[in-house]
Amino acid sequence: MNTGKVTLVGAGPGDPDLLTIKAAKAIASADLLLVDDLVSEAVVAFASGTARIVHVGKRGGCKSTPQAFILKMMVAAARNGEHVVRLKGGDPFIFGRGGEELEHLQQAGILVTVVNGITAGLAAATAIGVPLTHRAHAHGVLFVTGHGQTGAPGTDWAALATAAHRGRLTMVIYMGVRNAPELQDALLQGLPAATPLAIVQDASLPTQRHIVTMLGQMAWAVTAHAISSPAIMVVGEVSRAATLAQDYASPDSRKAAR
Ligand code: SAH
Repeated sequence: MNTGKVTLVGAGPGDPDLLTIKAAKAIASADLLLVDDLVSEAVVAFASGTARIVHVGKRGGCKSTPQAFILKMMVAAARNGEHVVRLKGGDPFIFGRGGEELEHLQQAGILVTVVNGITAGLAAATAIGVPLTHRAHAHGVLFVTGHGQTGAPGTDWAALATAAHRGRLTMVIYMGVRNAPELQDALLQGLPAATPLAIVQDASLPTQRHIVTMLGQMAWAVTAHAISSPAIMVVGEVSRAATLAQDYASPDSRKAAR
């Protein structure tokens, strides 16, 4: 009997202590682990000694493995009776292509389950003491991608920014730092320049750092403080709380960095 299956697992933002128990168990039982960019080695370390581990991300200047090839590998291994764990940063269903992979695997008749991870947007805000939906300041939260908004169709930034302003919604932007100047202009179509903004790089990792500024200074601040990917931007009144946040990284992870 073929008992092969695929588990799409959220590896969280980096700190292995933020992994769910379900994720840790899935990783430990994997025969084949396909590891994305931004998944920390401390998380991969939960794998068994006999598991085959394949890094399919593009960190370190290497080319990333084509998506079609990753899908093929997963299908072939699962049909061969193996437990395949696809490890993705944060949560598999938040900007992680988890949806596409799930569809493909289901169409191929493979048994698939998904395990949540703590998405970077949540981890970043909490790491600097920002409550995303503080009742006094926000009625909700939008998770938005800032990637490819230059010339790419799709994102109606004026509508998003206006909704965030009028509806008092916190905006959490992923993949935004590379396009900071364009993003700033786009958001200013609906939000005031004085809107508080926090940017968190390497959330939950020993290298975590953050800045607090305002929307009108976004691009300048990214350059001036040399903020680079991976980073999360939190736009909205709730970000004011970050000015008081000094150091929320755990003492253990600080020690590990030395
Ligand atoms: N599925 C992931 C997101 C993948 S998109 C999740 O749920 O978190 C990749 C983007 O996530 C990065 O460009 C960055 O904006 C964000 N990101 C991932 N890890 C991060 C971290 N440790 N700190 C800050 N941002 C992070």
